[in-house]
Amino acid sequence: MTTSASATTGHEDAIPGADAVIDRLVEANEEYASAFTDPGMDARPVLHVAVVSCMDARIDLHAALGLELGDCHTIRNAGGVVTDDVIRSLTISQRKLGTHSVILIHHTGCGLEAITEEFRTELEMEVGQRPAWAVESFRDVDQDVRQSMQRVRTSPFLLHKDDVRGFVFDVKTGLLREIDPA
Ligand SMILES: [Zn+2]
Repeated sequence: MTTSASATTGHEDAIPGADAVIDRLVEANEEYASAFTDPGMDARPVLHVAVVSCMDARIDLHAALGLELGDCHTIRNAGGVVTDDVIRSLTISQRKLGTHSVILIHHTGCGLEAITEEFRTELEMEVGQRPAWAVESFRDVDQDVRQSMQRVRTSPFLLHKDDVRGFVFDVKTGLLREIDPA
């Protein structure tokens, strides 16, 4: 049985290049590796900072924050939401890998502003199962950043909660705007 050359379904045609995109990434990696030299670093971030950000494709965290290889931990998900799993990563980051600062980055035009918790019901209607996770949609990005800062600051698992700052990244200007935690 083969899954290739399924020209009869027409599905592949609906997504031009979808089959080839990972091949392209792997090719790019071969080029990257050909020029790569072992930086001789250990796993502990040089700047002792963890960045928690939305996964949005328009945010190039390293470029936007002037970060270099090895500088930080990068934890990303839809919305940059501080979920239990983000707390898991931050806990390991602080307790096992020496970070002590946390920067939270949400942004203008986030997809989570366009949906509601109803999305869970839609999924349940479609697949017969309601997801256990919250969508974490929001209407006020500033308030969403404040809530995320609060979740970090109140976590019992984290060692360092003094240097936690939250920002909104403007996808049109590339500028960060700091959010007052109060
Ligand atoms: Zn987003």
